[in-house]
Amino acid sequence: MMEPDLDQGAMDETRIMVLLVDDQAMIGEAVRRALSTDENIGFHYCSDPEKAVQAAELTRPTVILQDLVMPGTDGLTLVRKYRSIPLLRDVPIIVLSTKEEPAVKSASFTAGANDYLVKLPDTIELIARVRYHSRSYINLQQRDAAYRALRRSQQQLLETNLELQRLTHSDGLTGLSNRRYFDEYLQAEWRRAERDRTELGLLMIDVDNFKSYNDTYGHVRGDEVLKQVATTLQRVANRPADLAARFGGEEFAIVLPAASSGGVRLLGERVRREIEALALVHEGSSTGPVLTISVGGTSAQPEPGALATRLVEAADRALYQAKHEGRNRVVIGQVAAQG
Ligand code: GH3
Ligand code: MG
Ligand code: MG
Repeated sequence: MMEPDLDQGAMDETRIMVLLVDDQAMIGEAVRRALSTDENIGFHYCSDPEKAVQAAELTRPTVILQDLVMPGTDGLTLVRKYRSIPLLRDVPIIVLSTKEEPAVKSASFTAGANDYLVKLPDTIELIARVRYHSRSYINLQQRDAAYRALRRSQQQLLETNLELQRLTHSDGLTGLSNRRYFDEYLQAEWRRAERDRTELGLLMIDVDNFKSYNDTYGHVRGDEVLKQVATTLQRVANRPADLAARFGGEEFAIVLPAASSGGVRLLGERVRREIEALALVHEGSSTGPVLTISVGGTSAQPEPGALATRLVEAADRALYQAKHEGRNRVVIGQVAAQG
């Protein structure tokens, strides 16, 4: 199980940081003195309203004390500005006003302030409010960080599962579907064809004289050939429902939903031609100078209750016949009548 990797910085940063924005140095000094009675409270003073946002972004306050009347800028304009910046959006703001006045109070809260204090409050009240707002801000930050970490690990889990699924379905050497997934897919498509009364096509493909290829060029180059064959099959079987798989060893299969015998033959012929066109020199081949494949194919509309293995057997018989008739060819066979 993955631990939600809580942002260590966010967890440790439980320290309270107050940013005071007020043009009067005297207020700055008074607040500094009041807050200095609590060693857990950090303090930053900004007297220039033009630099307030920058100061907030740098000091990352857990609460902002904002003066209302300053030269050049209206304190409420600054409050709205903090609220519009993602980094500062949730930072609690306590407005510092010179008087107790309902209209100003109302405007402050509308602009986005969280609290309202008349200058200068006594030390006990100031510290209590600073602590209260900072605590709720820190809690919010920690909750958000935990939530983000959870979301991240859920996403990772999802990706790991998808990757795992892909791996259990695919063949390690060629990247095609493996035998196991081929069986599952063929079953499902056979059922669907039975339900929809449509045809299901299948091609079985076997590399010609591959043992002698390995003997001549070595197993490593043999593996390379299998990869190239796989890539070619994947390219030819290009409809969304087509599935190319490694059936085992140097044998491959392609499931072709809704393909008629004619369609299966056409595709088989294309695969055969394209492998030949790769022009992989194979001196020990019985079919010519380059590597070739033999292809057996079939297509059928499933009779009720018939097994999908009948399709595989028919394609396999056709493949055997293709080998028998001299290799490097396509033979299309029929599914045996039920009996
Ligand atoms: P045919 O034309 O009748 O198919 O002859 P063949 O030599 O291709 O058939 P045979 O079944 O005698 O030999 C198959 C060879 O495929 C033998 C085996 O070593 C090789 N083979 C099977 N799997 C792999 C593989 O993953 N990598 C490599 N390099 N060779 C493989
Ligand atoms: Mg072979
Ligand atoms: Mg074989």
